[in-house]
Amino acid sequence: MLNSPIQTFLDELHLKFQPLKEGVLPNYIPELAKANPDWFGICVVTADGQIYQAGDCDQLFTIQSISKAFVYGMALEDRGRDYVLTRVGVEPTGDAFNSIQVDEVSKRPYNPMVNAGAIATTSLIKGIDPTERLNRMLDMFQRYVGRDLFVDMSVFTSERSTGHRNRAMAHLMLNFGMIEPNIDEALDLYFQQCSVMVNCQDLAVMAATLANCGINPISKARAVESRYVRNILTIMYTCGMYNFAGEWAYTVGLPAKSGVSGGIIAVAPHKMGIAVFSPLLDSHGSSVRGLKVCEEISEQFGLHLFDLRADIAREEGLGARG
Ligand code: GLU
Repeated sequence: MLNSPIQTFLDELHLKFQPLKEGVLPNYIPELAKANPDWFGICVVTADGQIYQAGDCDQLFTIQSISKAFVYGMALEDRGRDYVLTRVGVEPTGDAFNSIQVDEVSKRPYNPMVNAGAIATTSLIKGIDPTERLNRMLDMFQRYVGRDLFVDMSVFTSERSTGHRNRAMAHLMLNFGMIEPNIDEALDLYFQQCSVMVNCQDLAVMAATLANCGINPISKARAVESRYVRNILTIMYTCGMYNFAGEWAYTVGLPAKSGVSGGIIAVAPHKMGIAVFSPLLDSHGSSVRGLKVCEEISEQFGLHLFDLRADIAREEGLGARG
């Protein structure tokens, strides 16, 4: 860990937001309600592999919906862009993550970040049987993270036995011919992908890998074909924060993805991956502390994609943001 303006700022943010106790633990997945509300980690990994962290960055938790962005990349690799687009749209919705809505005309789920679209996306992953599909998926996550990962069985079975709404969505999509008939296998794989255990540093490395056009900046392994990175980041930008995506784009201005276990990642292209972990959630299902931290990091380092002041200052030789 280096002593730098980034490190100092992360330490300050951690001190500032640790006392914030707003939000609630999710209880619709019983295992997630057991999280410690005080857990709080912040990690930044730069696109050239420097790691900065504050707080609980080694604490393991399930990746939940953050997995959706990466599995979307894998589906694009497995099936190609054109085919994936016939099964899952790219339109943001003003609806919550668990909305049971599909496009009335095309019958596609709206996008790969809401649960319906994510389940349809997962059903596109190739493999001769469930074991091969799961192993291929774990390999994919491992390339992003740079270490071995595993599925937490208690969260997986908790979600599998209570995920009636997700099951209903899968049946609806089967009714419209949008997914193949083996929906139990697709749902199991979806619940498994959500139950992969990561820590905050893993998530920051994953985000940094996207910031670095698909190459893990630490292991130097390619995690996803470079041509699909823009598709993943676009979907994260427009849909990653569900029905908060517009407000997030306005204030933070970075592609991002939140998960119901309290993780958030944000990607500053060519610059850094940011990850925050803190389990207390707001009404949109995003980490309360995570939102605040990302807002402040974006502002402090001028990361908003449409904040053109830094570029202008550089061009004019002013060396500062006006
Ligand atoms: N596994 C969760 C579900 O399907 C993911 C939701 C989330 O992380 O936003 O409900």
